[in-house]
Amino acid sequence: MNIVFVTSEVVPFSKTGGLADVCGALPKALAKLGVKVMVFSPLYPSVEKLKKEKLRVKNIVLLIKVGERIKTAQVCQIRQSKVDFYFVDESEYFKREFLYGTAQGDYPDNAQRFIFFTKAVLESLIELKIKPDIVHCHDWQTALIPLYLKTIYANHPSFLATKSVFTIHNPGYQGLFSPATFYDIGVPEKYFTPEGLEYYGKVNFLKAGLLFADKLTTVSPTYAQEIQTKEFGFGLEGVLTKRQADLSGILNGIDYSIWNPAKDKFIKPNYDLNNWSEAKSKIKTKLCQKLKLNLPSQAPLISFIGRLTIQKGIELIIEAVKAGIFNNAGLIILGLGEEKYHKLLLKLKEDCGKRISVNLSFDEPLAHQIYAGSDIFLIPSHYEPCGLGQMIAFKYGTIPIGYKTGGLADTIIDYNENSDQGNGFLFTSYNLKAFIEKVKSAIQIYQQKNEWAMIVKRAMNADFSWATSAQEYLKLY
Ligand code: ADP
Repeated sequence: MNIVFVTSEVVPFSKTGGLADVCGALPKALAKLGVKVMVFSPLYPSVEKLKKEKLRVKNIVLLIKVGERIKTAQVCQIRQSKVDFYFVDESEYFKREFLYGTAQGDYPDNAQRFIFFTKAVLESLIELKIKPDIVHCHDWQTALIPLYLKTIYANHPSFLATKSVFTIHNPGYQGLFSPATFYDIGVPEKYFTPEGLEYYGKVNFLKAGLLFADKLTTVSPTYAQEIQTKEFGFGLEGVLTKRQADLSGILNGIDYSIWNPAKDKFIKPNYDLNNWSEAKSKIKTKLCQKLKLNLPSQAPLISFIGRLTIQKGIELIIEAVKAGIFNNAGLIILGLGEEKYHKLLLKLKEDCGKRISVNLSFDEPLAHQIYAGSDIFLIPSHYEPCGLGQMIAFKYGTIPIGYKTGGLADTIIDYNENSDQGNGFLFTSYNLKAFIEKVKSAIQIYQQKNEWAMIVKRAMNADFSWATSAQEYLKLY
């Protein structure tokens, strides 16, 4: 079987969030099951920085129409972990500092960039004589492909046997653009209706994936249910409910060749279940020195790593700090996102001094050190399709506190002194009071060393590797 992944980011070449982790790890896991997998993504500067010498330029030139403009592009390839990665090379659209935009907002030509990219992928497949069985697309940036396969490429000999799968990683981002953009997509006008891509007068790229893909998935079973409700559907619950029979939820996994404290090259000492306590406390001490955190002895180190957007619950954390919840703890924030949160966090740092470390950057090595050196990991997302942070935290013996939603509900088992199951803490009403109560009770249980060690043991023993989920995808294909 021939599977083509199409994604706007992929580890280790480019990353802003979990989408990149998934599109790096799932193809590798599928290749291990004997499937031929190819991954298509844009050639960003980060790809060249990593692999410039090893990229092989393919002997094809693509001419892609975006509205009235004809753009030319090349394709490079590299093989890694039995997966072929192809990168679409077009300087004007992809040689930029960030993937989608800056802290001030999205790049204004994102619609054209991803119309170009999706068409370029289909043209590459034709030129490279690849006839995919499955084209597996991810999020709004690649959502036009299922539509193209059912319209302008419907009768192309390369795609006669091709089916499409579309995975929703985050419906909070839909690719909403002005109606004039519809012309640039290049499909007949009849698709610009409420039954098609039209969405309250605008063009909605995500809808193209939801309506035209043969199968839909999202990244946890609970989220597959939630997304069909008004509260979590982002206005697309109607479309999703109509496609209920084709929609399934498959839990993401973690790539333990990257996220494993026993082998992690960014931390010292390495550790496993036998020596986690001493090792974590050494890493914690070094981390506090590095980030100039002044922590009372016996105080837990609490952390947050993630995109700074409303989704991730950063406001709850800021308000909890103001309420004094972290007075007897240390708090590390690592994130990049909206400018308003950058400002709020810097102000918080100014007010709270040495108990808080605010790091407004995307920093892979630091992320590894924080997962390892912290005791508690905050992931108070308002909605969370899957969430990788809590699964990474488990592996590093760092205990997550999350809201009972989506993938957090599917992976975190709330601690209860009468049960021997808990691996973290879940609050069940989305408000500051409930969040603060959970943080307080986690800090209290942290002081009961034997009890805490049992929770850490359960967390580190949990298995969220890709093997099981890759089998589920294979069944779906
Ligand atoms: P989302 O995909 O919604 O951003 P996930 O929890 O699924 O959230 O995945 C987030 C991934 O991005 C994790 O691997 C996390 O460690 C990583 N990450 C997020 N922000 C940063 C950052 N500022 N620096 C380093 N890694 C980050």
